[in-house]
Amino acid sequence: MTNIALNLYNTLTRKKAPFEPIDKDNVRLYVCGPTVYDFAHIGNARPVIVFDVLFRLLRHLYGVEHVTYVRNITDVDDKINARAAQQYPDVPLNEAIHTLTKGTTKQFHEDIAALGVLEPSQEPRATDHIDGMIEMTKVLIEKGHAYEAQGHVLFDVASDKNYGDLSNRSVDEMMAGARVEVADYKKNPMDFVLWKPSTGDEPGWDSPFGEGQGRGRPGWHLECSVMSRKLLGERFDIHGGGLDLIFPHHENEIAQSTCAHENEVMANVWMHNGYLQVEGEKMSKSQGNFITINELLKEWQGEELRFNMLRTHYRQPIDWTAKGLSETRRNLLRLQKNFKPLEGGVDAVELVADGQFLEALCDDLNVHQATSRLFEMQKKIARATGAEKEKLEQSFSASLTLIGFERLDLYSPFGAGEDTMEVKKTQLDEARKYAVTPMPGQDVKYALSKMEPEKLNQMIEDRLAARDAKDWANADRIRDELGALHIELHDGKDPDTGKVITRWDIKR
Ligand SMILES: [Zn+2]
Repeated sequence: MTNIALNLYNTLTRKKAPFEPIDKDNVRLYVCGPTVYDFAHIGNARPVIVFDVLFRLLRHLYGVEHVTYVRNITDVDDKINARAAQQYPDVPLNEAIHTLTKGTTKQFHEDIAALGVLEPSQEPRATDHIDGMIEMTKVLIEKGHAYEAQGHVLFDVASDKNYGDLSNRSVDEMMAGARVEVADYKKNPMDFVLWKPSTGDEPGWDSPFGEGQGRGRPGWHLECSVMSRKLLGERFDIHGGGLDLIFPHHENEIAQSTCAHENEVMANVWMHNGYLQVEGEKMSKSQGNFITINELLKEWQGEELRFNMLRTHYRQPIDWTAKGLSETRRNLLRLQKNFKPLEGGVDAVELVADGQFLEALCDDLNVHQATSRLFEMQKKIARATGAEKEKLEQSFSASLTLIGFERLDLYSPFGAGEDTMEVKKTQLDEARKYAVTPMPGQDVKYALSKMEPEKLNQMIEDRLAARDAKDWANADRIRDELGALHIELHDGKDPDTGKVITRWDIKR
């Protein structure tokens, strides 16, 4: 326990204010987790790392046993259904969904474990809480906040006088700024889905809603209202997530929870991390700069990704660059020199974390300032001797432990990783000139030295044409010719158009 006051910025009040937990013996934090249909990208890692630091800090301030952190898994979603059908076209949809979500959840856990992220106290899956979602929907209908129309149940936005408080915008402004789905069954275009009907082999659960058997599935927003109430109570301390979730997701969570409960407040403090872009550009699949955590971990250590993410204040936009990662590597190697692992690991941090370090951290998670303090401490350590040096080093190590570098002694950079981002950027710049999208990590220059890009593109197109004409002999011949040049072809489906596309890679 410590006397330093924790100050947090609250999106709801747009102010930084001292944090007062509802119950010091059980400080409760909820963060929206991933929708498990694909590899998590580096933008997904930002809230995971930022709120891990907050979790660790709260444990430090209130005691390891006195913090409950819930981060959910969204395993029911139309994006999941679409991807499952595309990836496993030959099995029943429900089985495909199960296989997909199981695999991606496992991958997500492995990726973020490498980033030094502690497991949350609870990690509920949406599909385990369908009963609660049906129950909350019923309550909202009874209280006049929701209505049934054409098998759907919709939240009636006009019935909630506080709707829009979190985004600080009027309903008209929100409508203008967001893509709102207009549907003839909605009373108001802003009304959002609590429950929708499922047809055919779409995933569905029996419900009392709609005509006929009422088989359906929940809307996305509902799960967080239901799981947070179940695990943290109707009112809890902190709700976190990315900036992009403020509207509509968090606005809708608040509407559902406050209207279903006799409570004007869902969470006292709402925290949002800023956006992430890559080399100055917005990350998107169509730009080709969509980087997964998994892909980065092949070239960079988890410590490097974690530290690089924390260099920028969590509320600021972050530009993820090769240059930044290289600097991070140098900084970590420098910090490692005075680091000694603490007995007791992560749970031992209350021993001696440095006062100024902690103060910076308690100032709305100012990790950047906190780490500047670490470099100052290193200068002092260099001048100190004997017991003083030992004490300073212990405090230095405890501080690093507090933000998740409890085994910095084991950190060792990969030799080759340093230039990967640069190489990737050059490759992408190269590749964008051509019609063919490269596989992540391939050596464009190497391949192009063996083959003119126009020629390569032409051969790939010829092969696709041969395939279309079921001329397998010619299609195989082209594949073999390229294979002899160490160019490997991969066929897949364009997720947007469903057309077959071919990407190429270097045979290793
Ligand atoms: Zn949520």
